[in-house]
Amino acid sequence: MANAMKLLFMPGDGIGPEVMTEVRRVTDWFARARGLDLEIDEGLIGGSSYEAHGTPLTEDTLAQAMEADAVLLGAVGGPKWDNLDFSLKPERSLLRLRKDMELFANLRPAVVFEALAEASTLKTDLVAELDILIVRELTGGVYFGCPRGIDDIGGGNRRGINTHVYTTPEIHRVSRVAFEIARQRSGRVCSVEKSNVMESGLLWREEVQALHDAEYTDIELSHMYADNCAMQLVRNPKQFDVIVTDNLFGDMLSDEAAMLTGSLGMLPSASLGAVDADGSRKALYEPVHGSAPDIAGKGLANPLASILSFAMLLRYSFELAVEADLVERAVANVLAKNLRTADILQPGTTQISTGEMGTALVYELEALAA
Ligand code: NAD
Repeated sequence: MANAMKLLFMPGDGIGPEVMTEVRRVTDWFARARGLDLEIDEGLIGGSSYEAHGTPLTEDTLAQAMEADAVLLGAVGGPKWDNLDFSLKPERSLLRLRKDMELFANLRPAVVFEALAEASTLKTDLVAELDILIVRELTGGVYFGCPRGIDDIGGGNRRGINTHVYTTPEIHRVSRVAFEIARQRSGRVCSVEKSNVMESGLLWREEVQALHDAEYTDIELSHMYADNCAMQLVRNPKQFDVIVTDNLFGDMLSDEAAMLTGSLGMLPSASLGAVDADGSRKALYEPVHGSAPDIAGKGLANPLASILSFAMLLRYSFELAVEADLVERAVANVLAKNLRTADILQPGTTQISTGEMGTALVYELEALAA
């Protein structure tokens, strides 16, 4: 790679710094063993930023994030900051970051590692080797549409209003992400909406189809109503590869799909912005879990969600598929050796600490690269 990969790491609060320490061991390994030219800066976010600067995200740190090739975040929040004014709460920093970076596509993989298939609430054969990806539109739809609000309609009654609205460009840009990613996978996309009862859903279906017919005829596109998709995800999840859907349905379906895999400590995510004129795109990678204050500082946190988020960073920000595969295979191998943090412990497996999981992972990377 010609230029250094400029990364900003934001460990945040609670278990964030612990799990990010283990990611650092993986990045150190890649720099040492594979010659990756990584230029890693660190920034404060959330409660840790509030303690140092009186705000959960400084303008300087935001500027750093805007300039980085990719941002990797741990987690923010904790009881210490729960009573702060709304504008100062740690969680606000994340919303600001996502908004200013204009991250409109949220990628949530639901992958079941063979060794963890039994941890799913579904039958093992239904989820074994599951590997699906939900692409959720993140900045539009009913969570942001106007008009919105609560009106007084007289007689002691009120009316709550939200507007589910999408435009052609909003639908095209997130569908494009799904189609492009599907090209690197099995080449199948399922677009999910409620076109039977919602005009915005009908537009969604028509526009996804139009983009497909114009530019992505090599991709197998299907359409499904969101309620049916919710059922199909628990009936036969392996029928899917890439699912693309709006903000509201994506919120629910991605959580549903995530739970097929068993544990919060295993779930990575990515949020992508538009491709700039120079071909780069803003991107934020983070585990799905929060700061887990109940286990912070005890060596109990599972660092694999963060390490898998780093694998997504390699894949989606730098097109380093071989390196990303290496990380994912190392995770599979550690699990296959029955080494587990407390959250994924099963009978017959050995409990190890956060740091020991990092050590085991680097050991597997060494073995795979040998
Ligand atoms: P949480 O995800 O932090 O924890 C939920 C449960 O899962 C806890 O029992 C926790 O111990 C466990 N858990 C989570 N991650 C784990 C890991 N890597 N390894 C092992 N166990 C893990 O959610 P919560 O308890 O609802 O929220 C705690 C704090 O995190 C709150 O302040 C919340 O606002 C914040 N939060 C932040 C983010 C984020 O930074 N993206 C997301 C969700 C919640």
